[in-house]
Amino acid sequence: MSALFISDLHLCEQRPGTLRAFFAFLQGPARSAQALYILGDLFEYWAGDDDATPLGNAVSDALAALAETGTSLFFLPGNRDFLLGESYARTARLQILADPALIDLGGKAVLLSHGDILCTDDEHYQSFRRLVRDPVWQRVFLERPLAQRKQVIEGLRSQSETAKQEKTMEIMDVNASAVETLLREHDYPTLIHGHTHRPAHHVHIVDGRSCGRWVLADWHDDAPYLRWEEAGPPVALRFGPNADR
Ligand code: MN
Repeated sequence: MSALFISDLHLCEQRPGTLRAFFAFLQGPARSAQALYILGDLFEYWAGDDDATPLGNAVSDALAALAETGTSLFFLPGNRDFLLGESYARTARLQILADPALIDLGGKAVLLSHGDILCTDDEHYQSFRRLVRDPVWQRVFLERPLAQRKQVIEGLRSQSETAKQEKTMEIMDVNASAVETLLREHDYPTLIHGHTHRPAHHVHIVDGRSCGRWVLADWHDDAPYLRWEEAGPPVALRFGPNADR
């Protein structure tokens, strides 16, 4: 059993270095893993599966080629790419996971999340999240012409950039009691998430039980990932031209 976890790649045409690192990662460390879990924000944004960009096609080709070698691929949507649907997932051979998703890794209970549900101090974001994660809202939105959808997303992205500058670092991090509640609800698993771009290994003591929380790093051209082998604790690694080896 060997599983790799990545998140927050924010792939887009403007970051060719990250894209190259991702393709190298898929042909490198990911090949020898049994499973690759992508915990959201694989793409900088996703306007719908009908937005057939060269980038989206290149990524799905590379993912499908990896799946062909025997690695199972899982995708848990992030706040940037939650509109990624079954059609793209089928082509890329991704299995879409709910957020959160409880999995078994060699007999250990591991809870996976993008992480944005834990940032409960940001009430404005949470109410926005509830709106856009509503299936009815999504269906209506996806019925709009692609060009319109892209415009709306562009507007939301610039609003979010402005809002971020006014928010404190604390507001944009996870809320400790939201983490504890989630761990309790799932019988004290190990938690792995991304989103905050603050890679770390935390330990939470909840009701006397000790739960690890791994926060994944965001990507540049250094391809950070978490590797979990059956034998030992997870290890945070990097792969790519600028990784310190
Ligand atoms: Mn995110």
